[in-house]
Amino acid sequence: MSGIIKANADTSGLTLSFEFFPPKTPEMESQLWEAVDDLAGWAPSFVSVTYGAGGSTKAPTLCAVSRIASQTTLTPAAHLTCVGAACEEVDAVVAEFAAAGVKHFVALRGDPAGGIGTAYVPHPNGYANGAELVAGLKRLGDYEISVSAYPEKHPESADVDADIDMLKRKVDNGATRALTQFFFDNDHYERYLERVRAAGIDIPIVPGILPVHNLAQVRKFAGMAGASVPDFVVARLGTIDDDSERRFVAAAALAAEQVQDLIRRGVTEFHFYTMNRSALVSEVLRRSGFRRTDVAA
Ligand code: FAD
Repeated sequence: MSGIIKANADTSGLTLSFEFFPPKTPEMESQLWEAVDDLAGWAPSFVSVTYGAGGSTKAPTLCAVSRIASQTTLTPAAHLTCVGAACEEVDAVVAEFAAAGVKHFVALRGDPAGGIGTAYVPHPNGYANGAELVAGLKRLGDYEISVSAYPEKHPESADVDADIDMLKRKVDNGATRALTQFFFDNDHYERYLERVRAAGIDIPIVPGILPVHNLAQVRKFAGMAGASVPDFVVARLGTIDDDSERRFVAAAALAAEQVQDLIRRGVTEFHFYTMNRSALVSEVLRRSGFRRTDVAA
């Protein structure tokens, strides 16, 4: 167990981060800012905004992190991908984000231009993978750098060892935190963590928690991302996909149980995939024993 089991679940001293995606429409824009405002009450250590592979969301991602930096008390982190771009193009994007107040990047390679499942072809003058991007970022400035990690293996990796080698390269190049792909079975995370620690990697491996708004969508995405959706998830959520109140309660209970179990296993940092919606994440946190900082006890 690598000394990661703790006797009691206690949320004091735990840290949270929330992931958002850049909005595409005015309605989605309102939804994003409502979610950001509401989730700010849980005092996250940072909030991140995703970045479309190939720079497809550069403007809205920049807009969102700028607004977080200038109009909220939250600390933004900008996701950044390097697929399909020359190093100098990526470096120029970094400069724009930095000018907007971003000091923390989530450095990612990005999915292959042909889509998940096709072969990845690095740009001839680009960063070839997440590790090279981390090194490039470190050359550009003293940024905080988070990276990805895959408890159930990245679909392109030959095996878990190849994934862990890549993670080690990212850490050697300056990454100080890994955020995991979502998973539902905590044993996957714990086994992965044991192998990461055995490889001499000591940065926080922060579990990515995905409260399920829509099981069909999650199953589809999990299939592409190489994450499994265990039978116990399907058994609890599979029959109630169209009943919103019951689904909300069941999804909140499921994710809260996952978080509580991870706390018992010694996890102290959590990254939530919010889908730009706050109610379910807030309910998971409340059920897990966290306290909002913006309401009296
Ligand atoms: P890397 O860390 O470079 O590689 C991942 C693994 O794939 C490595 O362990 C390596 O073993 C293997 N690998 C890499 N390249 C090859 C190759 N050429 N051949 C064989 N094996 C290879 N995507 C976005 O587009 N925008 C986002 O904002 C975004 N945010 C994310 C946030 C998190 C927390 C996570 C976990 C993923 C996110 N992704 C995002 C998805 C990510 O871009 C994809 O998973 C992508 O396929 C890999 O990017 P990476 O940085 O993890 O790659």
